[in-house]
Amino acid sequence: MLDLLLPQRCVVCGCGGKQLCAACRDELPRIEPPLCARCGAPTAWPVERCRECAGRRLAFASARAAVGYDAAARRLVHAWKERGLRRLAAEAAQLVAERVPAPEVDALTFVPADRRRRRERGHNPAERLAVELAAAWELPCLPLLERTRGGRQRGSSAFERRTVRGAFRATRGMPRRVAVVDDVYTTGATAAASASALRAAGARRVEAVAFARALRRR
Ligand SMILES: [Zn+2]
Ligand SMILES: [Zn+2]
Repeated sequence: MLDLLLPQRCVVCGCGGKQLCAACRDELPRIEPPLCARCGAPTAWPVERCRECAGRRLAFASARAAVGYDAAARRLVHAWKERGLRRLAAEAAQLVAERVPAPEVDALTFVPADRRRRRERGHNPAERLAVELAAAWELPCLPLLERTRGGRQRGSSAFERRTVRGAFRATRGMPRRVAVVDDVYTTGATAAASASALRAAGARRVEAVAFARALRRR
């Protein structure tokens, strides 16, 4: 509701008009092929595995995202997550649908928020994105995952890797092929942990989809 009443300003540049102005939308760094087939990192030529994911056990078959997680994408995600600007979830979904081919899956699901964050924010950004994407791709969106413990999940780094392993459990009857949606793909640890929970519960193939992806300097 607040969304409709507040004067609209671009969350990236601050100009009046829309929550994401056309210029800032255009400038978001789209992730372009060639990509690593597995983790979706941009690469010099198409590869099955790249420096970023080589040797890692990743339970997802592939991970894809729409834009690089640069300063502008960060501001957008922050406004969407922390200020609860719902319209931005629709914008993010549209950007994903433009850039990422619809995964060949039976259903979408999303990375669950931990309870404290969900309470603070009143919404789960990953869930909103998944719902919007499910509509765009004409797929069902099912809540298939839950957190097993306080399992906090923070931006990047070794901290994320340590805390997310085993942080999820799948909740009910599992489609064969599932895509798990998150707002940002950082190290891939969250995507891998959710994919492994989905597979442990019977999914044969899991794809990961995110709005933005952290890009390593090459
Ligand atoms: Zn702008
Ligand atoms: Zn890779």
